[in-house]
Amino acid sequence: MPKLKIDYHVHPNYSIDASPVTIRDYCHKALLLELREICFCTHVELDPRRNEKENFVMLNGEKRPVYELNWLDSYFAEIGQAQKEFNNSSLKIKAGVEIGYCPGVENYIERIVNDYPFDFVMGAIHCLDHISISSQKESPYYFRSRRAETVREEYFAVLMEAVKTGFFDCIAHIDIYRRYGIQFLGSEAYAIHRGAIEPVFAEMSKRGMGIEINTSSRRRGLKDFHPTKEILELAIKAGVKVFTVGSDAHSLDQLGEGVDEALALLHEVNGSNYVYTRRKPVPCPIAC
Ligand SMILES: [Zn+2]
Ligand SMILES: [Zn+2]
Repeated sequence: MPKLKIDYHVHPNYSIDASPVTIRDYCHKALLLELREICFCTHVELDPRRNEKENFVMLNGEKRPVYELNWLDSYFAEIGQAQKEFNNSSLKIKAGVEIGYCPGVENYIERIVNDYPFDFVMGAIHCLDHISISSQKESPYYFRSRRAETVREEYFAVLMEAVKTGFFDCIAHIDIYRRYGIQFLGSEAYAIHRGAIEPVFAEMSKRGMGIEINTSSRRRGLKDFHPTKEILELAIKAGVKVFTVGSDAHSLDQLGEGVDEALALLHEVNGSNYVYTRRKPVPCPIAC
């Protein structure tokens, strides 16, 4: 049985840290790669303490504050046009978003997810203590002054809060602290989830939430995907049933990267790959 290749985490030119590649261009490349489904998940970062740093989107080539929500009209219109254009092809196109969660921004998130017809809303922890742990440049300011135990307490507390907001369908790259934390935490980066992630998974399972396998770790020299196999197995043990697979592509050449291997890993741990339509998870009809 052929694997149904999909990519559920793609950043088009609306994301300030992405290459200027349009939604339409990604869709053409997706067809060439024989992807069956692509979900655009542009960034939304809302921490008021980081307003000047990253709370922006690109709209028609111009940097605009993310809070001016009219950019979403254009985002949905462009995705709608692509859906029409590729309607007779084998490619399905979905409208998603990757929202960086930090405590205190719930009102904004609520407006965004309630006012727009998203297929898929992903939550991510990119910042702790208002410092980006997902950025190579900034993350040392976070990790160099904290022991593994503190990272563990801070990360999993915010993650649990994010899960309990009920805003998110799925959590992106759930062990993102490993990306740059590994240089500071060493092998502890592979162990700090133990005992802390299980209650989060219990809560996610209760809520029917999904977990993403994110392949971008490979581009940063890490051996495992986000999350590691051990963490995936803990999720399954806790009753999590929904998994998505995404490259986190920020440029055309990254589209679909590692997706085959992530699907194979999912198969190995007896997990199932899901797609979403209007926030409802559906198992992929073919493959794992
Ligand atoms: Zn992310
Ligand atoms: Zn992303």
